[in-house]
Amino acid sequence: MSVTEKAKSATAGVSEQQITELIDSVPKGLLIGGEWVEPGPSFDVINPATGKALTSVADANADHGIAALDAAVAAQKSWAATDPRERGELLRAAFEALTARVDEFALLMTLEMGKPLAEARGEVSYAAEFLRWFSEEAVRIDGRYAVAPSGGTRLLTMKQPVGPAYAITPWNFPLAMGTRKLAPAFAAGCTMVVKPAKQTPLSTLALAQLFIDVGLPAGVLGVVQTSNAAAVSEPIIADPRLRKLTFTGSTGVGQGLIAQSATNVLKVSMELGGNAPFVVFADADLDRAVAGAMLAKMRNIGEACTAANRFIVHKDVCEEFAARLTEKMSALTVAPGTDPASQVGPLIDEAAIDKVTELVDDAVKAGATVTTGGKPLGGEGYFYPPTVLTSVPASARMFSEEIFGPVAPITTFETEEQAIALANDTEYGLVSYLFTQDVSRALRVAEALESGMIGLNQGVVSNPAAPFGGIKASGLGREGGPEGIDEYLETKYVGIAL
Ligand code: NAD
Repeated sequence: MSVTEKAKSATAGVSEQQITELIDSVPKGLLIGGEWVEPGPSFDVINPATGKALTSVADANADHGIAALDAAVAAQKSWAATDPRERGELLRAAFEALTARVDEFALLMTLEMGKPLAEARGEVSYAAEFLRWFSEEAVRIDGRYAVAPSGGTRLLTMKQPVGPAYAITPWNFPLAMGTRKLAPAFAAGCTMVVKPAKQTPLSTLALAQLFIDVGLPAGVLGVVQTSNAAAVSEPIIADPRLRKLTFTGSTGVGQGLIAQSATNVLKVSMELGGNAPFVVFADADLDRAVAGAMLAKMRNIGEACTAANRFIVHKDVCEEFAARLTEKMSALTVAPGTDPASQVGPLIDEAAIDKVTELVDDAVKAGATVTTGGKPLGGEGYFYPPTVLTSVPASARMFSEEIFGPVAPITTFETEEQAIALANDTEYGLVSYLFTQDVSRALRVAEALESGMIGLNQGVVSNPAAPFGGIKASGLGREGGPEGIDEYLETKYVGIAL
């Protein structure tokens, strides 16, 4: 598709009036103590399909952050004292309300983040599932009672909410990264202040209004979007009343936040960057491997921490795998996410285009071959085409850095040991994908891969019922699954003399 056609269809499928009404319906203030506060200063929210402002929202400063924390601290005791069933039912009501409004939330997300509408609908449903999962977990918080090994003393173990929490969320999954934190916090009995990414505050603001509408008490949730994340976050993290910090974003920012959390020894959860290997053995079902590769690479336009970043393919099947992947990648329709035909939307901003361009140019200079794509599309918005690179040398920067775009670099291996060594040759450890039909090999390699999650013959691992998270530089803690609520609970033990 030419750039002009792309520009013409910037809002194809959706009327300007529909967009205006939707944007107007979203609160633009800061949520502090159950009230929407309009402080005066604001910043623009940009539509990445056009590069133009959609609207502007209130811009929090350090005082607003502390005011939201004050409200969260004030609400903590009474929220923790609610019956688990009551917290569960509130989350369930939020699940029902969000599910009933999938299309509306999806359009809002596509407008501020760029992903195709079909994917945005998928994220809204995924985000809602965290509300449902943790509505069910709220009533399963329990403890233990045991006889001490030496007898006499009895050991009673109980779980209690950790206390007020602060969540910092990224722009790539604006809604799901929020509910993955809010839902377990609320289920556990914790209050939470959220700072959404500057690029995508609208999804969080609309979600906050939804929580108010289903009856969440004032102060249990605060929202402080800002153009200066550090200025708002540092005083909150330095405040001894805060007890928990949960972050999803880049490893560099996460490392700084862990250092800040040391002062008050906060309980921390960090979902950081990834550099996922996608390993295809010669015995793999290639149909499945190619379908899995499309999902693992192209979900969210490649802007996912779980995105396959390095394709490591056995030399006997590499040519066929690369040819089939190239065919599928080049057949995708690149268009604004609001266009019903869109399969690949814009990247988030100019800097993202520059980064992807730089990494592709570097690989080509080092000897890689481009089989499709390879150059930004230019024109209005931030579009980069699906790209496949073969014969990528190990020295290429894209093998050690997160690409965060629709680019699939392929290299080959000969032995299982080599495949494992290549896959583990990264400081990251979020997810690895593994394609083989040999059960023994699957288990052997899954055990040897250094990552928190493995996709075995599948290209997506995210599931609200499973513990999502990484090892090494990919983070600390788990979100989702039965493990997810533990991140918001402290364990207290009572030694009882009989
Ligand atoms: P980012 O680290 O730049 O920003 C993430 C959030 O941190 C944003 O809300 C931002 O405003 C805030 N932030 C930035 N600097 C800050 C500071 N000094 N103090 C406090 N907050 C600060 O990352 P991004 O570009 O928004 O997101 C992309 C990154 O997130 C990628 O590295 C990706 O892998 C990672 N990610 C990880 C997961 C996961 O679950 N592991 C999920 C999605 C994204």
